[in-house]
Amino acid sequence: MARQITGEGKTIGLVPTMGSLHEGHLSLIRRAAQKADVVIVSIFVNPTQFAPGEDFSSYPRNEKNDIEKIRLSGGDIVFIPKAIDIYPDDYQTYVTVEELTRTLEGTSRPTHFRGVTTVVTKLYNICRPDVVVFGMKDFQQAVVLRQMTTDLGYPIKFIIAPTVREPEGFAMSSRNAFFDNEQRSDALCLYYALRSARDMVKAGITSPEKIEKEMRAVIKATCSTAGIDYIAFNEFSTLRPVKKIAKGTICSLAVIIHGVRLIDNMKLM
Ligand code: AMP
Repeated sequence: MARQITGEGKTIGLVPTMGSLHEGHLSLIRRAAQKADVVIVSIFVNPTQFAPGEDFSSYPRNEKNDIEKIRLSGGDIVFIPKAIDIYPDDYQTYVTVEELTRTLEGTSRPTHFRGVTTVVTKLYNICRPDVVVFGMKDFQQAVVLRQMTTDLGYPIKFIIAPTVREPEGFAMSSRNAFFDNEQRSDALCLYYALRSARDMVKAGITSPEKIEKEMRAVIKATCSTAGIDYIAFNEFSTLRPVKKIAKGTICSLAVIIHGVRLIDNMKLM
């Protein structure tokens, strides 16, 4: 199929997703449609990026609605592989990005990125995209995949699109579907914390320790039961931790709200 499209001289855009699509995903599809002639959207809840005990089996699935949303957003082809197609019996080959995966999400979820880079490599090989679009919402994932794309020599234009937020401010996420109204307002604590970090930086504070302390207080004040996994301040492209907030510093955090692990981030300067 991909060969036929490129044979006709058309370019292919690819937007990999795990489905249960929201406005965040749709913004990526629209972006891809601006950049390529044919847009493929994959829906695959990838088992290898979930560790035992994570939410693979309960991850929200909604394919019928997804297909309609993709069509309305400018997607041309929906690719929904079966796990057995991606990982046939006796599957043994994995793609790993080294340094960039040893921090942040990689610390808390040590096998996660190996699953992500492997499945995206397979999607590249099947869909042969000229352009791919990933979301800033999962910024470490985007940085890791960008590195992998360059390292493996794929001639693919790599786009990182901005995070789409709910009107109240928190990042859209398929996992928000797990929440009732009260829990949703607790989930706002991530955004409030990031906003307070940004405001502190605007006021001239550049100490990560001071900012983290305030962010922890904001999170606890918004949701007393929140479990903070990490709050981190890193340089965007290298993911190296910073000693002082500077241009390009990104603050990211992972917080468990009512049993659901949420992540978010914001460029501070
Ligand atoms: P997922 O279905 O969660 O694997 O996400 C598929 C793609 O959508 C990834 O590139 C995510 O970074 C991106 N994405 C998820 N949520 C958002 C959002 N709120 N805004 C922009 N992109 C997003």
